[in-house]
Amino acid sequence: MNHDSPLTSVVNQSIDVSSESSLSKQDLDKLINQNSENFVSHEQEILSLTALPEHACKYCGVSNPRCVVRCDICKKWFCNGKSGTTSHIISHMVLSRHHEVSLHSDSDLGETELECYSCGNKDPFMLGFVSAKTDTIVVILCRIPCSQAKDSDWNTANWQPLVEERCFLDWIADYPTPLDMANARAISPLDISKLERQWRSDETATLEDIKDLIDATAQYDKQLTESQGLNYISVSWSMSPHNYHLAKFSLSSYDSSNLKIAVGDEIILHYDGIKEEKWQGSGYVIKLPATYSEGFTLELQPSSVKPPTEHNVGFRAEIVWKGISFQRMQAALTTFAEKKSISKDLYDILLGHKEEQPEFTAKLPEAISVPNFTQLNPSQVNAVKSVLQQRLSLIQGPPGTGKTVTSATIVYHLAKSKKKKVLVTASSNIAVDHLASKLEDIGLKVVRVTARSRENVESAIDHLSLSSLVSNTNNPVLKKLLKKKDELGSLSKKDMNIYISQTKKAEAEILAEAHVVCCTCSGAGDKRLANIKFPYVLIDESTQPSEPESLIPIVKGAKQVILVGDHQQLGPVILHNGAAKAGLRQSLFERLIKLGHIPIRLEVQYRMHPSLSEFPSNMFYDGSLQNGVSHEQRLIRRSSFPWPAPGIPLLFWSSYGTEEISISGTSFLNRSEAMNCEKIISRLLSEGIKPHQIGVITPYQGQRDYIVQYLLMNGAHPDREIYQDVEVASVDAFQGREKDFIIFSCTRSNHTNTIGFLKDARRLNVAITRAKYGLFVLGNIKTLQKDPLWNRLLVHFRDKGALVEGRLDSFQLYTASLESARFKSTAENNGLNQGDNKGDLNSNGFSNPKFTAEDLSSTSFSSLHPFRANVDTDSRFASNPSIPSMSPFLNQPQWTNPSTFQLNEQIRPSTPDGPPVDLRFIQGLNLDEPISELTSRFNNL
Ligand SMILES: [Zn+2]
Ligand SMILES: [Zn+2]
Ligand SMILES: [Zn+2]
Repeated sequence: MNHDSPLTSVVNQSIDVSSESSLSKQDLDKLINQNSENFVSHEQEILSLTALPEHACKYCGVSNPRCVVRCDICKKWFCNGKSGTTSHIISHMVLSRHHEVSLHSDSDLGETELECYSCGNKDPFMLGFVSAKTDTIVVILCRIPCSQAKDSDWNTANWQPLVEERCFLDWIADYPTPLDMANARAISPLDISKLERQWRSDETATLEDIKDLIDATAQYDKQLTESQGLNYISVSWSMSPHNYHLAKFSLSSYDSSNLKIAVGDEIILHYDGIKEEKWQGSGYVIKLPATYSEGFTLELQPSSVKPPTEHNVGFRAEIVWKGISFQRMQAALTTFAEKKSISKDLYDILLGHKEEQPEFTAKLPEAISVPNFTQLNPSQVNAVKSVLQQRLSLIQGPPGTGKTVTSATIVYHLAKSKKKKVLVTASSNIAVDHLASKLEDIGLKVVRVTARSRENVESAIDHLSLSSLVSNTNNPVLKKLLKKKDELGSLSKKDMNIYISQTKKAEAEILAEAHVVCCTCSGAGDKRLANIKFPYVLIDESTQPSEPESLIPIVKGAKQVILVGDHQQLGPVILHNGAAKAGLRQSLFERLIKLGHIPIRLEVQYRMHPSLSEFPSNMFYDGSLQNGVSHEQRLIRRSSFPWPAPGIPLLFWSSYGTEEISISGTSFLNRSEAMNCEKIISRLLSEGIKPHQIGVITPYQGQRDYIVQYLLMNGAHPDREIYQDVEVASVDAFQGREKDFIIFSCTRSNHTNTIGFLKDARRLNVAITRAKYGLFVLGNIKTLQKDPLWNRLLVHFRDKGALVEGRLDSFQLYTASLESARFKSTAENNGLNQGDNKGDLNSNGFSNPKFTAEDLSSTSFSSLHPFRANVDTDSRFASNPSIPSMSPFLNQPQWTNPSTFQLNEQIRPSTPDGPPVDLRFIQGLNLDEPISELTSRFNNL
């Protein structure tokens, strides 16, 4: 053979000539043809890639070996240059969840796999470096646990992450030079996510392939799953007592995202077939995470295909958001539209057809407070009286103001005087249970109706549940059958039919005798309540359910409706952006306020130390919140905690360590805040405070996970286990609850003043109103001060002498000026930091009626403080701190609170001849449509 011929070299590559000594001519021709075909197509491919080397960035084509990093999972290369805010390699790591990389052989560090020197952890989001104490070399260690070890050779205290500002440090991979960039392909973050998506089904897809791929549905699905962090979850498996498979898992962004999952929700678990066949199975959530260490527990429905229980990773979850509750909402809207379901007056009021509430006469009971129950305060008595005399009333219950007691009293009077059944609902099961037990306390016959899927879930009021009342019934037939069922495990078909009909009969009898039926809003659509009319409906937490959800209990024959809630706390959580935009993010409570209904506000709070209630009162409740607890009642005895202002258990502790991307790649953590958090907790524990009295709130899942780990590893308390009982959770998880001490870790700390979730005024309100005895806020003044809301919080803390930096035992008061975004120079020149709030009242914006909350965040008036701290904090019922009367904003409601103003801004006039926009839209919507159609319909709005 002629070895110089190009053709033979191709043949040589394909077959081992030495072993195949007798090739026929035919075989040879075949081979030659095959190979030349390959050769040609390969050539074309090279041409189409304009001859980029293999290590060129798969997004943009940059091929400078110093700038590129190889993904060791998919073997593709990416550069460290940015599209938008994130470098290409980091984008790839986040979107694909490929968390192993190595460097190019021609890079400064040579061919290196990035991993922890000590434990071999390869996740770049976990890695950082420390330098040697004596030498100039550095070593890569993981954040936890290795960087925490005290090592004599290494400066572990100076650990720095390898990823900063969403790209690798430049000595790991350089940023592309202008020349590199000039030859690179422009690629947008959107293109990147499309390309990544394409790679999941086709590894070799290129940017060109996806350029003309417009797939709205796919985009939506992707957004839904990825933005909610439902991908790449790890699952631990067990069996339930009833022999169902139980899958336990945490969702990486359960807290930081707007995700809301309740017991009874359906979730489909997918195994994407990393190690074996793909699998999917659906089940119901039977347990929510109560503490950090727990996850969701899903009870899988029986299926012929066994779940891959030998695997723990490679799963993703899909929330079936159009579950039964959506069908019920749809049904409620339809019923509502038929007008017959509720009183005509109420119908008109709910739709805003009438300016004034029509006459409604009702006799008031002689005594408002219920015998042998909590005596009401004047604002509560006022609320009860006014509610009983109106068809529709809104009660606003700021934190700790006794909403439940007030609600229970109202229900008592309705049930006793009217002798009609009252339907009591709330959006969460916890709130329903809580109210139900209070109603039982005051002597009412209460039946709690839970979803069938939730009947196995334990609760403190099990004895009130319809199912347990049925099983304790005196019906002899039912008793016999129940016994039989228990003994045999199942019943014959004939017995089963009798059992079902007898159960129905017993249920109907129990419900007929009840004074009050308690269930969730969605539960009001339960079949077992189908034939019962409820003229009186009380909805607690009514700022949580979306409008159609609130209608489910109302359309069951309501003549009088009471909505209890607080629109200054977190509102409805809607997964679907389109649905949210179409108005589902608004609660009925909020819309009624927009229509001009004025809620009756409960004004005495019994939770917070008076110093803690002052800011929220001024910021969120027009200064109307009074204190039903005194300083003395909230005194921390024998405490030596170094509060900077004596007698004021309030602290903003500023630290300046930068935020880092968490392992998920989609959340944040802040190590210096975690350290300060540990110091505070350990100090409190050393003074005898119990761990369950302390709560840590952070809006970021990454920070929650980090704090939990950090406490367990570095807690100064001799018994580290004790830290497990300190609850670390999201703002949402703390809504409606309280702790003696709250530490709020803001987490965000950057030079761009990006503060994400922290911008939400309602979230801040919830976070700072959970504490009874003491509140600690951990944050970075420099990052937060530009935001108007936070600026005001900082000013408040500074005025109280509680704005500090430095070390716990030697706090330094923060004295530099608090800058806000736009009028930086004016603010400084006017000496705002001296508390002089005159002089810089820049008229810009304030007189403009179109001034919105959005505008607020970009303007800087916030460095003035609108309410002087001239409250008499010592008087027992310190009230109404007055707004300085010279303030030109006095008549501007938006001044008191950005979020209040946002509401005003969005007021839509009620339309006299039709339902408000939101309802009209929703009525036209068929929630049974597949998501794709829904999406396009929303998009076409
Ligand atoms: Zn990869
Ligand atoms: Zn690139
Ligand atoms: Zn390590």
